[in-house]
Amino acid sequence: MASRVYFMDYGKSQNLKRSLDDIFPAMGLDEALKGKRVAVKLHMGEEGNPTHIRPGKVRRLVDRVKEAGGKPFLCDTTTLYPYKRFTAKEYLQTAARNGFSEDTMGCPIMIIDGDGYDSFPIPLEKKTGDVNFDEVPMAKGLLEADFLLVLTHFKGHCVSGFGGSLKNVGMGCVDKTGKSKQHSPSRPLINEDNCIGCSACADACGYGAIEIADGKVHINYDRCMNCTACFFTCKNECIYWKDGYKGEMILYMVHMASAVLKHFENRSAAFNFVEDITPLCDCAASPGSAIFPNIGLFASLDTVAADAAALDMIDETEPLPGTGVPEGPDRLGKFHGVDGRRQIIIAEELGAGASEYELVRLQ
Ligand code: SF4
Ligand code: SF4
Repeated sequence: MASRVYFMDYGKSQNLKRSLDDIFPAMGLDEALKGKRVAVKLHMGEEGNPTHIRPGKVRRLVDRVKEAGGKPFLCDTTTLYPYKRFTAKEYLQTAARNGFSEDTMGCPIMIIDGDGYDSFPIPLEKKTGDVNFDEVPMAKGLLEADFLLVLTHFKGHCVSGFGGSLKNVGMGCVDKTGKSKQHSPSRPLINEDNCIGCSACADACGYGAIEIADGKVHINYDRCMNCTACFFTCKNECIYWKDGYKGEMILYMVHMASAVLKHFENRSAAFNFVEDITPLCDCAASPGSAIFPNIGLFASLDTVAADAAALDMIDETEPLPGTGVPEGPDRLGKFHGVDGRRQIIIAEELGAGASEYELVRLQ
């Protein structure tokens, strides 16, 4: 059955307050959020990232949740890679620098996996493809929520093709062990011949998994968390990933998203802000220049439909000149050499939502 997706077209209106006043009652959120603790899940941006959702827009949503009688808290999890959101303290400092604090948001901000390992196992009830886990380590702080409101900056992603709400939930609502599992297809492999023993990768590893012995890199795979830091640090192409890792990663990520969405069945909503559509995600300090014009906001009670509608609209939109974006379908996926639409297909197979939707254009 087709799910309803509400579309605020930036070409017609930029008035988020007015659109939320249309969207909330239409989606039944005024009723659903009354008296409820609402986890507003948001990537608050890596240090230096310029394209995360603007704090002013997030504040509007937080205020609208309060108007509906909900009790919001803004939340996210720590990163797998060791940088400026690696611990709860570091994340809160980075969030504040990016404009997100209890003061500016008017609600608490919670790093829901603590320093990365506070989680609660939830069952993975359905599987498709080669998936060897039966539980998902959902960030423990989500147990405090009655409702999950997913706010997503929709853009490209170098592994999953696009980063939408499914990715925000799959990668962003689990602890470091869940992230590590999702990244396990890109476990670092070594081309020793290229190694000059400079130890830059060992310095970058936050898990003490790398040693330099006899002038060459050695990885202790018992300690390695697949965080990718060594890959991005090495300038000598010693570290590489196996072929086909992108597809496997998508499979794991969507399975974790489906488990979290199942936990919040009939208690979640997705808001995709399709703007600043850069090739890379908000984990990047330099995500690249926009490759499409800003499009609008897609909101739905069905996370899969919200992603499908955003993706379809991107495919129908003329890319910005000189960006080299390939013809559709799946322009963002093709841009990154991956079948990004598999996210939607897998999620639908897992019963996380519908790829068919009815687009309701707001005036
Ligand atoms: S793998 Fe790369 S970064 Fe690590 S020691 Fe060798 S050359 Fe240096
Ligand atoms: S060895 Fe590389 S991928 Fe593994 S944890 Fe260390 S930096 Fe991350």
